[in-house]
Amino acid sequence: MPLTAEIITIGSELLTGLTVNTNAAFIGERLTAVGAVVRAVVTVDDAEADIRNAVETALSRADRVVCTGGLGPTNDDVTKKAVAACFGRELVLLPEAMDRIEAAFRAMGRDMAPANRLQALIPEGAEPVPNRVGQAPGFILSRDGRELIVLPGVPSEMRAMMDETVIPRLRAAAGTASAALALRTAGLPESDVGRKLEDFPSLFPDVRVGFYPDSTGVTVRLMTFGSSAEACESRIRQAGESAADRLGRAVYGTGGDSLESVIGRLLAESGRTLAVAESCTGGLISHRITNVAGSSAYFIRGVVAYHNSVKTGLLGVPESVLQTAGAVSAECAAAMAEGVRTAAGTDFGLSATGIAGPGGGTEEKPVGLVFIGCADASGTVTEKHRFLRERLWNKERSATAALDLLRRRLRGFA
Ligand code: ATP
Ligand code: MG
Repeated sequence: MPLTAEIITIGSELLTGLTVNTNAAFIGERLTAVGAVVRAVVTVDDAEADIRNAVETALSRADRVVCTGGLGPTNDDVTKKAVAACFGRELVLLPEAMDRIEAAFRAMGRDMAPANRLQALIPEGAEPVPNRVGQAPGFILSRDGRELIVLPGVPSEMRAMMDETVIPRLRAAAGTASAALALRTAGLPESDVGRKLEDFPSLFPDVRVGFYPDSTGVTVRLMTFGSSAEACESRIRQAGESAADRLGRAVYGTGGDSLESVIGRLLAESGRTLAVAESCTGGLISHRITNVAGSSAYFIRGVVAYHNSVKTGLLGVPESVLQTAGAVSAECAAAMAEGVRTAAGTDFGLSATGIAGPGGGTEEKPVGLVFIGCADASGTVTEKHRFLRERLWNKERSATAALDLLRRRLRGFA
Protein backbone atom coordinates (compact mmCIF):
# COMPACT_ATOMS: atom_id res chain seq x y z
CA MET A 1 0.00 0.00 0.00
CA PRO A 2 1.45 3.37 -0.96
CA LEU A 3 1.58 6.11 1.66
CA THR A 4 -1.28 8.57 1.49
CA ALA A 5 -0.57 12.26 1.85
CA GLU A 6 -2.38 15.52 2.30
CA ILE A 7 -1.13 19.07 1.77
CA ILE A 8 -2.23 22.04 3.87
CA THR A 9 -1.24 25.50 2.65
CA ILE A 10 -1.80 28.32 5.09
CA GLY A 11 -2.20 32.00 4.29
CA SER A 12 -4.94 34.52 3.61
CA GLU A 13 -3.09 35.68 0.47
CA LEU A 14 -3.67 32.21 -1.01
CA LEU A 15 -7.41 32.42 -0.38
CA THR A 16 -7.80 35.91 -1.83
CA GLY A 17 -5.78 35.01 -4.91
CA LEU A 18 -3.00 37.52 -4.25
CA THR A 19 -0.49 34.66 -4.23
CA VAL A 20 -0.70 31.71 -6.56
CA ASN A 21 -0.40 28.48 -4.59
CA THR A 22 2.80 27.21 -6.15
CA ASN A 23 3.80 25.45 -2.93
CA ALA A 24 0.93 22.98 -3.26
CA ALA A 25 1.92 22.20 -6.85
CA PHE A 26 5.56 21.66 -5.93
CA ILE A 27 4.82 19.50 -2.90
CA GLY A 28 2.23 17.47 -4.84
CA GLU A 29 4.73 16.82 -7.59
CA ARG A 30 7.50 15.78 -5.18
CA LEU A 31 5.27 13.52 -3.07
CA THR A 32 3.89 11.84 -6.17
CA ALA A 33 7.39 11.29 -7.49
CA VAL A 34 8.27 9.15 -4.45
CA GLY A 35 5.10 7.12 -4.73
CA ALA A 36 2.91 8.81 -2.13
CA VAL A 37 -0.71 9.28 -3.15
CA VAL A 38 -1.83 12.85 -2.54
CA ARG A 39 -5.49 12.70 -1.57
CA ALA A 40 -6.27 16.33 -0.77
CA VAL A 41 -4.90 19.84 -0.88
CA VAL A 42 -6.50 22.15 1.66
CA THR A 43 -5.91 25.89 1.94
CA VAL A 44 -6.87 27.79 5.09
CA ASP A 45 -6.58 31.28 6.51
CA ASP A 46 -3.93 32.26 9.05
CA ALA A 47 -6.44 31.54 11.82
CA GLU A 48 -5.68 29.23 14.69
CA ALA A 49 -9.01 27.41 14.76
CA ASP A 50 -9.01 26.86 10.99
CA ILE A 51 -5.47 25.49 11.05
CA ARG A 52 -6.29 23.15 13.95
CA ASN A 53 -9.32 21.82 12.13
CA ALA A 54 -7.45 21.25 8.91
CA VAL A 55 -4.57 19.48 10.69
CA GLU A 56 -6.87 17.21 12.73
CA THR A 57 -8.89 16.26 9.66
CA ALA A 58 -5.78 15.59 7.58
CA LEU A 59 -4.17 13.45 10.30
CA SER A 60 -7.37 11.42 10.57
CA ARG A 61 -7.08 10.27 6.95
CA ALA A 62 -3.49 10.60 5.67
CA ASP A 63 -0.16 8.98 6.60
CA ARG A 64 1.80 12.13 5.86
CA VAL A 65 0.60 15.71 6.10
CA VAL A 66 2.77 18.49 4.68
CA CYS A 67 1.89 21.95 5.85
CA THR A 68 3.41 25.30 4.71
CA GLY A 69 3.08 28.97 5.67
CA GLY A 70 2.79 31.07 8.76
CA LEU A 71 6.08 30.23 10.48
CA GLY A 72 7.36 33.80 10.45
CA PRO A 73 7.87 36.24 13.31
CA THR A 74 4.78 38.38 12.71
CA ASN A 75 1.46 38.35 14.52
CA ASP A 76 -0.34 36.80 11.58
CA ASP A 77 1.91 33.75 11.74
CA VAL A 78 0.01 31.38 14.02
CA THR A 79 0.77 27.98 12.49
CA LYS A 80 3.12 26.84 15.24
CA LYS A 81 0.72 27.76 18.00
CA ALA A 82 -2.09 25.91 16.28
CA VAL A 83 -0.20 22.68 15.59
CA ALA A 84 1.44 22.65 19.02
CA ALA A 85 -2.06 22.81 20.48
CA CYS A 86 -3.21 19.88 18.31
CA PHE A 87 -0.40 17.78 19.80
CA GLY A 88 -0.74 19.21 23.31
CA ARG A 89 2.81 20.53 23.27
CA GLU A 90 4.51 23.73 24.45
CA LEU A 91 6.74 25.77 22.16
CA VAL A 92 10.40 25.55 23.14
CA LEU A 93 13.52 27.28 21.92
CA LEU A 94 15.66 25.41 19.40
CA PRO A 95 19.22 26.57 20.23
CA GLU A 96 20.76 25.88 16.80
CA ALA A 97 17.99 27.88 15.12
CA MET A 98 18.52 30.74 17.55
CA ASP A 99 22.25 30.71 16.71
CA ARG A 100 21.48 30.94 12.99
CA ILE A 101 19.09 33.84 13.48
CA GLU A 102 21.57 35.74 15.66
CA ALA A 103 24.38 35.10 13.20
CA ALA A 104 22.21 36.40 10.34
CA PHE A 105 21.49 39.64 12.21
CA ARG A 106 25.18 40.06 13.10
CA ALA A 107 26.12 39.57 9.44
CA MET A 108 23.60 42.24 8.41
CA GLY A 109 24.91 44.56 11.14
CA ARG A 110 21.40 44.97 12.56
CA ASP A 111 19.91 44.50 16.00
CA MET A 112 17.60 41.55 16.37
CA ALA A 113 14.02 42.39 17.19
CA PRO A 114 12.58 40.36 20.08
CA ALA A 115 9.95 38.95 17.69
CA ASN A 116 12.66 37.16 15.73
CA ARG A 117 13.20 34.90 18.74
CA LEU A 118 9.79 33.43 17.94
CA GLN A 119 11.21 31.97 14.74
CA ALA A 120 13.49 29.69 16.76
CA LEU A 121 10.59 28.12 18.68
CA ILE A 122 9.31 24.66 17.77
CA PRO A 123 6.89 22.34 19.58
CA GLU A 124 8.51 20.34 22.35
CA GLY A 125 9.68 16.92 21.17
CA ALA A 126 9.31 17.80 17.48
CA GLU A 127 12.06 16.78 15.12
CA PRO A 128 13.59 19.90 13.54
CA VAL A 129 13.90 20.26 9.76
CA PRO A 130 16.91 22.49 9.04
CA ASN A 131 16.37 25.57 6.86
CA ARG A 132 19.52 26.20 4.85
CA VAL A 133 17.99 29.07 2.86
CA GLY A 134 16.24 31.16 5.52
CA GLN A 135 15.81 31.52 9.27
CA ALA A 136 12.67 29.69 10.41
CA PRO A 137 13.26 25.97 10.96
CA GLY A 138 10.59 23.45 10.02
CA PHE A 139 9.67 20.47 12.17
CA ILE A 140 8.01 17.08 12.17
CA LEU A 141 5.50 15.83 14.73
CA SER A 142 4.45 12.18 14.87
CA ARG A 143 1.30 10.50 16.15
CA ASP A 144 0.22 6.86 15.70
CA GLY A 145 2.67 6.29 12.84
CA ARG A 146 1.46 9.39 11.03
CA GLU A 147 3.57 12.47 10.49
CA LEU A 148 2.83 16.17 10.32
CA ILE A 149 5.60 17.99 8.47
CA VAL A 150 5.53 21.76 8.98
CA LEU A 151 7.56 24.00 6.62
CA PRO A 152 7.84 27.76 6.02
CA GLY A 153 5.73 29.41 3.31
CA VAL A 154 8.61 31.08 1.45
CA PRO A 155 8.84 28.93 -1.69
CA SER A 156 12.65 28.82 -1.97
CA GLU A 157 12.98 27.72 1.69
CA MET A 158 10.18 25.19 1.47
CA ARG A 159 11.61 23.64 -1.72
CA ALA A 160 15.11 23.22 -0.32
CA MET A 161 13.71 21.64 2.86
CA MET A 162 11.50 19.25 0.88
CA ASP A 163 14.36 18.13 -1.35
CA GLU A 164 17.03 17.96 1.34
CA THR A 165 15.12 16.44 4.25
CA VAL A 166 11.48 15.53 3.70
CA ILE A 167 11.72 13.62 0.43
CA PRO A 168 14.83 11.53 1.30
CA ARG A 169 13.10 10.60 4.56
CA LEU A 170 9.90 9.60 2.77
CA ARG A 171 11.83 7.56 0.27
CA ALA A 172 13.59 5.72 3.08
CA ALA A 173 10.28 5.11 4.90
CA ALA A 174 8.59 3.78 1.79
CA GLY A 175 11.55 1.51 0.99
CA THR A 176 10.78 2.03 -2.67
CA ALA A 177 12.70 3.10 -5.69
CA SER A 178 11.16 4.85 -8.67
CA ALA A 179 11.96 5.79 -12.24
CA ALA A 180 10.29 8.26 -14.56
CA LEU A 181 10.45 9.20 -18.21
CA ALA A 182 8.87 12.03 -20.18
CA LEU A 183 8.20 11.68 -23.91
CA ARG A 184 7.72 14.99 -25.72
CA THR A 185 5.34 14.99 -28.67
CA ALA A 186 4.11 17.55 -31.15
CA GLY A 187 1.46 17.57 -33.84
CA LEU A 188 -1.06 15.24 -32.17
CA PRO A 189 -3.98 16.43 -30.05
CA GLU A 190 -4.15 15.03 -26.53
CA SER A 191 -7.07 12.76 -27.43
CA ASP A 192 -5.05 11.11 -30.22
CA VAL A 193 -2.06 10.67 -27.94
CA GLY A 194 -4.38 9.03 -25.40
CA ARG A 195 -5.93 6.77 -28.02
CA LYS A 196 -2.55 5.55 -29.23
CA LEU A 197 -1.72 4.52 -25.66
CA GLU A 198 -5.16 3.08 -24.91
CA ASP A 199 -3.91 -0.44 -24.22
CA PHE A 200 -0.96 0.79 -22.19
CA PRO A 201 -2.48 0.21 -18.72
CA SER A 202 -3.16 -3.46 -19.56
CA LEU A 203 0.33 -3.94 -21.01
CA PHE A 204 2.14 -2.04 -18.27
CA PRO A 205 -0.15 -2.11 -15.23
CA ASP A 206 2.78 -1.14 -13.01
CA VAL A 207 3.49 2.07 -14.96
CA ARG A 208 1.54 5.27 -14.34
CA VAL A 209 0.83 7.33 -17.44
CA GLY A 210 -0.03 11.04 -17.48
CA PHE A 211 -0.75 13.42 -20.37
CA TYR A 212 0.27 17.06 -20.08
CA PRO A 213 -0.71 19.24 -23.03
CA ASP A 214 0.49 22.81 -23.50
CA SER A 215 1.18 25.09 -26.46
CA THR A 216 4.40 23.21 -27.26
CA GLY A 217 2.70 19.82 -27.60
CA VAL A 218 1.70 16.95 -25.35
CA THR A 219 4.15 15.52 -22.83
CA VAL A 220 3.57 11.90 -21.84
CA ARG A 221 4.96 11.11 -18.40
CA LEU A 222 5.62 7.53 -17.37
CA MET A 223 6.48 6.52 -13.86
CA THR A 224 7.04 3.25 -12.08
CA PHE A 225 7.85 2.09 -8.54
CA GLY A 226 9.63 -0.97 -7.27
CA SER A 227 12.13 -2.26 -4.78
CA SER A 228 15.30 -1.57 -6.77
CA ALA A 229 16.41 1.39 -8.85
CA GLU A 230 17.80 -0.92 -11.54
CA ALA A 231 14.53 -2.80 -11.93
CA CYS A 232 12.61 0.48 -12.16
CA GLU A 233 15.02 1.91 -14.73
CA SER A 234 14.82 -1.14 -16.91
CA ARG A 235 11.02 -1.28 -16.67
CA ILE A 236 10.64 2.39 -17.54
CA ARG A 237 12.97 1.99 -20.51
CA GLN A 238 10.83 -0.86 -21.77
CA ALA A 239 7.62 1.13 -21.29
CA GLY A 240 9.19 4.20 -22.90
CA GLU A 241 10.20 2.26 -26.00
CA SER A 242 6.74 0.79 -26.34
CA ALA A 243 5.06 4.19 -25.93
CA ALA A 244 7.47 5.87 -28.36
CA ASP A 245 6.73 3.11 -30.85
CA ARG A 246 3.00 3.72 -30.65
CA LEU A 247 3.36 7.49 -30.89
CA GLY A 248 5.76 7.20 -33.83
CA ARG A 249 6.91 10.36 -35.54
CA ALA A 250 5.06 12.62 -33.13
CA VAL A 251 7.78 11.98 -30.53
CA TYR A 252 10.50 14.56 -30.89
CA GLY A 253 12.43 14.03 -27.67
CA THR A 254 12.50 13.13 -24.02
CA GLY A 255 12.89 14.90 -20.68
CA GLY A 256 13.98 18.50 -21.05
CA ASP A 257 14.13 18.45 -24.87
CA SER A 258 12.24 21.19 -26.70
CA LEU A 259 11.44 21.39 -30.41
CA GLU A 260 13.92 24.23 -30.73
CA SER A 261 16.71 22.35 -28.96
CA VAL A 262 16.10 19.26 -31.10
CA ILE A 263 16.09 21.33 -34.30
CA GLY A 264 19.23 23.07 -33.12
CA ARG A 265 20.99 19.75 -32.64
CA LEU A 266 19.89 18.47 -36.06
CA LEU A 267 21.01 21.66 -37.82
CA ALA A 268 24.31 21.95 -35.96
CA GLU A 269 25.19 18.28 -36.51
CA SER A 270 24.65 18.54 -40.25
CA GLY A 271 26.21 22.01 -40.56
CA ARG A 272 23.07 23.47 -42.11
CA THR A 273 21.56 26.94 -41.64
CA LEU A 274 18.15 28.50 -41.17
CA ALA A 275 16.29 31.75 -41.82
CA VAL A 276 12.75 32.53 -40.67
CA ALA A 277 10.02 34.80 -42.07
CA GLU A 278 7.21 35.46 -39.61
CA SER A 279 3.94 37.26 -39.97
CA CYS A 280 1.34 36.24 -37.36
CA THR A 281 3.96 34.92 -34.91
CA GLY A 282 5.65 38.35 -34.73
CA GLY A 283 9.12 36.97 -34.00
CA LEU A 284 8.10 34.16 -31.65
CA ILE A 285 9.67 31.47 -33.83
CA SER A 286 12.97 33.36 -33.92
CA HIS A 287 12.69 33.93 -30.18
CA ARG A 288 12.29 30.22 -29.48
CA ILE A 289 15.12 29.28 -31.82
CA THR A 290 17.46 31.78 -30.18
CA ASN A 291 16.53 30.58 -26.68
CA VAL A 292 18.87 27.69 -27.43
CA ALA A 293 22.51 28.34 -26.53
CA GLY A 294 24.72 28.04 -29.59
CA SER A 295 21.95 28.96 -32.06
CA SER A 296 24.25 31.48 -33.76
CA ALA A 297 25.91 28.48 -35.44
CA TYR A 298 22.81 27.86 -37.60
CA PHE A 299 20.30 30.70 -37.23
CA ILE A 300 21.15 33.40 -39.77
CA ARG A 301 18.17 35.72 -40.11
CA GLY A 302 14.69 36.33 -38.76
CA VAL A 303 12.32 38.69 -40.58
CA VAL A 304 9.06 39.87 -39.05
CA ALA A 305 7.15 40.50 -42.26
CA TYR A 306 4.01 41.88 -40.69
CA HIS A 307 3.00 44.36 -43.37
CA ASN A 308 2.39 43.18 -46.91
CA SER A 309 4.97 45.68 -48.19
CA VAL A 310 7.65 43.73 -46.28
CA LYS A 311 6.41 40.44 -47.69
CA THR A 312 6.80 41.79 -51.24
CA GLY A 313 9.77 44.12 -50.68
CA LEU A 314 12.10 42.14 -48.39
CA LEU A 315 10.96 38.63 -49.16
CA GLY A 316 9.96 38.94 -52.81
CA VAL A 317 6.47 37.54 -52.36
CA PRO A 318 4.80 38.26 -55.74
CA GLU A 319 2.15 40.98 -55.67
CA SER A 320 -0.08 38.56 -57.60
CA VAL A 321 0.02 36.01 -54.72
CA LEU A 322 -1.21 38.64 -52.28
CA GLN A 323 -3.93 39.71 -54.69
CA THR A 324 -5.25 36.30 -55.69
CA ALA A 325 -4.53 33.97 -52.72
CA GLY A 326 -4.06 36.64 -50.04
CA ALA A 327 -1.44 37.08 -47.29
CA VAL A 328 -2.93 34.18 -45.32
CA SER A 329 -2.53 31.37 -47.81
CA ALA A 330 -0.37 28.38 -48.62
CA GLU A 331 1.01 30.26 -51.63
CA CYS A 332 2.11 33.18 -49.47
CA ALA A 333 3.66 30.90 -46.81
CA ALA A 334 5.61 29.12 -49.55
CA ALA A 335 6.79 32.38 -51.13
CA MET A 336 7.83 33.76 -47.72
CA ALA A 337 9.86 30.62 -46.88
CA GLU A 338 11.52 30.64 -50.29
CA GLY A 339 12.08 34.40 -50.16
CA VAL A 340 13.80 34.44 -46.79
CA ARG A 341 15.91 31.40 -47.73
CA THR A 342 17.13 33.14 -50.87
CA ALA A 343 17.70 36.49 -49.17
CA ALA A 344 19.69 34.95 -46.31
CA GLY A 345 21.42 32.29 -48.41
CA THR A 346 20.50 29.52 -45.96
CA ASP A 347 19.76 25.82 -46.34
CA PHE A 348 16.27 26.20 -44.86
CA GLY A 349 13.63 28.91 -44.94
CA LEU A 350 10.74 28.65 -42.50
CA SER A 351 7.58 30.80 -42.50
CA ALA A 352 4.25 31.39 -40.74
CA THR A 353 1.33 33.54 -41.84
CA GLY A 354 -2.12 33.52 -40.28
CA ILE A 355 -4.87 35.30 -38.40
CA ALA A 356 -4.09 35.42 -34.68
CA GLY A 357 -7.36 37.19 -33.81
CA PRO A 358 -9.53 38.28 -32.16
CA GLY A 359 -10.35 40.52 -35.17
CA GLY A 360 -9.63 40.07 -38.86
CA GLY A 361 -11.37 36.75 -39.43
CA THR A 362 -13.82 36.06 -42.25
CA GLU A 363 -15.97 33.07 -43.08
CA GLU A 364 -13.46 31.93 -45.62
CA LYS A 365 -10.42 32.76 -43.46
CA PRO A 366 -11.42 32.47 -39.82
CA VAL A 367 -9.42 33.50 -36.75
CA GLY A 368 -6.81 30.86 -35.95
CA LEU A 369 -6.21 29.89 -39.59
CA VAL A 370 -2.44 29.62 -40.12
CA PHE A 371 -0.22 28.50 -42.99
CA ILE A 372 3.31 27.27 -42.37
CA GLY A 373 5.98 26.92 -45.03
CA CYS A 374 9.38 25.24 -45.17
CA ALA A 375 11.73 25.60 -48.13
CA ASP A 376 15.00 23.84 -48.85
CA ALA A 377 17.01 22.75 -51.89
CA SER A 378 14.62 19.87 -52.59
CA GLY A 379 11.50 22.07 -52.69
CA THR A 380 8.88 23.72 -50.52
CA VAL A 381 6.20 22.20 -48.32
CA THR A 382 3.28 24.01 -46.70
CA GLU A 383 0.77 23.06 -44.03
CA LYS A 384 -2.58 24.48 -43.06
CA HIS A 385 -3.58 24.65 -39.38
CA ARG A 386 -6.59 25.91 -37.53
CA PHE A 387 -6.15 26.93 -33.90
CA LEU A 388 -9.19 27.73 -31.90
CA ARG A 389 -8.35 29.95 -28.97
CA GLU A 390 -7.24 33.46 -28.19
CA ARG A 391 -4.47 35.49 -29.77
CA LEU A 392 -1.45 34.49 -27.65
CA TRP A 393 -2.34 30.82 -27.74
CA ASN A 394 -2.75 30.97 -31.52
CA LYS A 395 0.66 32.61 -31.86
CA GLU A 396 2.32 30.02 -29.65
CA ARG A 397 0.66 27.12 -31.42
CA SER A 398 1.66 28.58 -34.80
CA ALA A 399 5.28 28.81 -33.69
CA THR A 400 5.15 25.21 -32.47
CA ALA A 401 3.63 24.05 -35.77
CA ALA A 402 6.39 25.80 -37.74
CA LEU A 403 9.16 24.38 -35.59
CA ASP A 404 7.61 20.93 -35.85
CA LEU A 405 7.39 21.13 -39.64
CA LEU A 406 11.10 21.95 -39.75
CA ARG A 407 11.83 19.11 -37.33
CA ARG A 408 9.99 16.61 -39.54
CA ARG A 409 11.68 18.02 -42.66
CA LEU A 410 15.09 17.61 -41.04
CA ARG A 411 14.21 14.03 -40.12
CA GLY A 412 12.93 13.30 -43.61
CA PHE A 413 9.29 12.87 -42.46
CA ALA A 414 7.81 15.87 -44.29
P1 ATP B 1 8.10 34.35 6.86
O1 ATP B 1 9.14 33.99 7.85
O2 ATP B 1 8.68 35.01 5.65
O3 ATP B 1 6.92 35.08 7.43
P2 ATP B 1 6.27 32.15 6.70
O4 ATP B 1 6.58 30.73 6.94
O5 ATP B 1 5.50 32.86 7.74
O6 ATP B 1 7.59 32.91 6.33
P3 ATP B 1 4.33 33.14 4.96
O7 ATP B 1 4.39 34.40 5.76
O8 ATP B 1 3.09 32.35 5.01
O9 ATP B 1 5.49 32.18 5.36
O10 ATP B 1 4.70 33.42 3.47
C1 ATP B 1 5.96 33.98 3.12
C2 ATP B 1 6.01 34.26 1.64
O11 ATP B 1 5.83 33.06 0.90
C3 ATP B 1 4.93 35.23 1.16
O12 ATP B 1 5.44 36.04 0.12
C4 ATP B 1 3.86 34.30 0.61
O13 ATP B 1 3.08 34.93 -0.37
C5 ATP B 1 4.69 33.15 0.05
N1 ATP B 1 3.89 31.93 0.14
C6 ATP B 1 3.32 31.43 1.26
N2 ATP B 1 2.63 30.32 1.00
C7 ATP B 1 2.74 30.11 -0.33
C8 ATP B 1 2.22 29.12 -1.23
N3 ATP B 1 1.43 28.12 -0.79
N4 ATP B 1 2.53 29.20 -2.53
C9 ATP B 1 3.32 30.21 -2.97
N5 ATP B 1 3.83 31.16 -2.20
C10 ATP B 1 3.55 31.14 -0.89
MG1 MG C 1 4.85 35.02 7.44
